[in-house]
Amino acid sequence: MGLSEGPGVRPTPCPCNGFAARALERARRGAILAPVTRVVGLTGGIGTGKTTVARLLAGLGAVVIDADAIVHELQAPGTPLVAAIAQAFGREMLRPDGALDRERLGRLVFADAAARKRLNDLVHPAVGQEMLRRLDAAKRAGAPLVVLDIPLLLEGRAARGGEPARARTASDLASEVIVVYAREEQQLERQLARDASSPDHARERIRAQLPIEEKRRLADHVIDNSGSLDETERQVRELYAKLTR
Ligand code: ATP
Repeated sequence: MGLSEGPGVRPTPCPCNGFAARALERARRGAILAPVTRVVGLTGGIGTGKTTVARLLAGLGAVVIDADAIVHELQAPGTPLVAAIAQAFGREMLRPDGALDRERLGRLVFADAAARKRLNDLVHPAVGQEMLRRLDAAKRAGAPLVVLDIPLLLEGRAARGGEPARARTASDLASEVIVVYAREEQQLERQLARDASSPDHARERIRAQLPIEEKRRLADHVIDNSGSLDETERQVRELYAKLTR
């Protein structure tokens, strides 16, 4: 029932020769006929297997929208976002070729919470907008399942918990969340096996995020990747079937 309908309320006459009414009718029919796209967030902890699970879901037919890849694209040399970051943090955050000096910026925001917030306030809305654009395109194309791959989805929500609504960010686009879980010691082992970081540095990266046990509690769906890759693949197939039923 529309706002202008209902008992005792006369439908408002359309002032535009029925054009708006026809458009509304088309939209209603479209809404009925269009397949529903389910939108889920995908997250985990460092090294728990989020990338592995995203790849499996994509192989099954999900459209995966990768927040990190979008951040990289939006921060290519010469983009408006890079200009805004240079203005906020100084031109010394740029390399001579105009590319963002990620390492330098990373060191700055790792050590300074206020700077981290300023950077997030520049980056997150831009990423959210681009994810929304891709999400709309996937919905228009009739995708049954869109997976928003957002490493810090739950940290973002926790950080904004008490704040009034601000610009929409990527984490607001998903109403349910998949967490890829592995035990903390496996996070450490897998990081060390994957890259040449020291155990201390790997531990520091793990501690900079919400603990994985906490993320597991906040999840709507858990993929337990503490076992073999075959077991993970089986869980992913089951979850995909459940989400697209
Ligand atoms: P990050 O967020 O740090 O990029 P991630 O959560 O995306 O990590 P992956 O890159 O998928 O995690 O996996 C981390 C490492 O662990 C990779 O080298 C991957 O091959 C390995 N790995 C993933 N799942 C398993 C598993 N079930 N058993 C053994 N190794 C695994």
